[in-house]
Amino acid sequence: MPELPEVETIVRDLRPLLVGRSFGSVLHVRSDIVHGDPRPLTSLLPKRRVIDISRQAKRIVVSLKPTAELIVHLGMSGRLTVVDSDVLAEPHTHLRVTVRGMQSELRFRDPRRFGGVWCLAGGKTHVGRRLGPLGVEPLDTTPAVFRRLLRRRRQIKAILLDQRIIVGIGNIYCDEALHAASIHPLTRADDLDGRVADRLLRKIKSVLNKAIRFNGSTLVDYRRADGSEGSFRQHHRVYQRTGDPCRTCGLPIECFVAAGRSTFICPQCQPAVAQHPCD
Ligand SMILES: [Zn+2]
Repeated sequence: MPELPEVETIVRDLRPLLVGRSFGSVLHVRSDIVHGDPRPLTSLLPKRRVIDISRQAKRIVVSLKPTAELIVHLGMSGRLTVVDSDVLAEPHTHLRVTVRGMQSELRFRDPRRFGGVWCLAGGKTHVGRRLGPLGVEPLDTTPAVFRRLLRRRRQIKAILLDQRIIVGIGNIYCDEALHAASIHPLTRADDLDGRVADRLLRKIKSVLNKAIRFNGSTLVDYRRADGSEGSFRQHHRVYQRTGDPCRTCGLPIECFVAAGRSTFICPQCQPAVAQHPCD
């Protein structure tokens, strides 16, 4: 599933291609993946100009003039690409929109259909309010705010994955950040003292920023906006490296289930701590 670095990469790929350009015609749309304004995209998108593309949590927000927002959530398997119009559309391509003055089109493909497209047109559009509450953005979070978020009787891994508390961190970057901060994933969050919490926030930011520099992690479905792969997977220190030597200490990486997810740790770098019962 695309996490913050993958979505941020797509946003940065799309900006130079689309900002300042207008949509042409909607060549194809599968209507049950579209939410928001009840009017069809075939009437909402044509002639609207892209004025900005941004990321909010794991959503790609395309701001348009006249005022509208086209919001794409990639779900588990979604891809948002700009493809030469001559290239045959792959199966499960649910949206195709031409771009004026380009021989290319914007395509949204999502075989598993956990993702979707929202179009909010008209005066007061605001993606956050319309699509439900979100936690804090990790790259913008201060140590004081982060310490407050950890005052919970829950496992640290469960908190980092909870999008209502902190957004954009999924299984890959959670495990990578916990390893970088030498924290066992089952540690209860409120057992982490202030200095350790500060270190974890620094590591979350550095792991996310490094992943953005390498254009995200392609495991199966994720592709950049031009269809190419992200290369951060080669830099994973624990994620999906069961049995491989830890890049810090050399001990084999172990895998177990925590917070309902496959969890990868180095048993030496991330020693288990005395367990306090969690809520
Ligand atoms: Zn290690």
